[in-house]
Amino acid sequence: MTKTAVITGSTSGIGLAIAKAFAKTGANIVLNGFGAADEIRMVTDEVAGLGAGAVLHHPADMTKPAEIADLMATAAARFGGTDILVNNAGVQFVEKIEDFPVEQWDRIIAINLSSSFHTIRAAVPAMKEKGWGRIVNIASAHGLVASPFKSAYVAAKHGIMGLTKTVALEVAENGITVNSICPGYVLTPLVEKQIPDQARTRGITEEQVINDVMLKGQPTKKFITVEQVASLALYLASNDAAQITGTHVSMDGGWTAQ
Ligand code: NAD
Repeated sequence: MTKTAVITGSTSGIGLAIAKAFAKTGANIVLNGFGAADEIRMVTDEVAGLGAGAVLHHPADMTKPAEIADLMATAAARFGGTDILVNNAGVQFVEKIEDFPVEQWDRIIAINLSSSFHTIRAAVPAMKEKGWGRIVNIASAHGLVASPFKSAYVAAKHGIMGLTKTVALEVAENGITVNSICPGYVLTPLVEKQIPDQARTRGITEEQVINDVMLKGQPTKKFITVEQVASLALYLASNDAAQITGTHVSMDGGWTAQ
């Protein structure tokens, strides 16, 4: 039977690569995320061209529970429920704790953590009914270790690790697995945007941010690719991965081994 994958924040970066990978398997895809109308149309057409499944874009803002509920209800109405849920939408803000804007804290916790609570609680009933489901949360190496100036991001990513484990235990007998992926630095628009921000905060050049800050802690000295993360998400959604649940898989070039 055709599976349906909902991928939050999939108009760009890692989410888009994951959407493309699942589209190639023939799954129906529910895209989500921001962008100009023509860009979103282009992305939707591109993903639709990759496989036999249907593709739609839902514009839910992951800070808004009612819009998230509508995203999940749309997937249910159109495709009969979500089989594979990838909680990927995420944002970053870099500032020292004493100057960290309260509205940025609230926004990051809402998008990077609370949105996954809202999608998961909506997806689980249909997964339980089918006796099969896959939930993949895109956490981060920052779900395991910290870096300065990223208090909200690190707190949210540590939070998603706890949510992953808790839900995994609740649905373990229902054929549903819940896992996190913890990437190190992946070269996406989110990371590209951080380079000038970090240069400003740390008072160093952008080149120094890349070599001495970002890839300093990544022993392979290479950025991870979005396709590598997508490939891991596909594996976690496969039947072979049925006994992997309540855990995380790191893809961080050795970062957290140190
Ligand atoms: P990105 O900026 O390329 O993409 C983020 C996506 O989220 C976009 O589609 C954007 O439109 C969407 N989005 C942002 N705010 C939203 C909102 N309020 N509602 C709905 N959609 C929203 O980022 P990325 O680097 O691909 O990051 C994807 C995920 O991977 C994030 O959770 C991020 O924390 C995580 N991650 C990224 C890296 C990295 O190095 N890039 C490393 C570890 C983890």
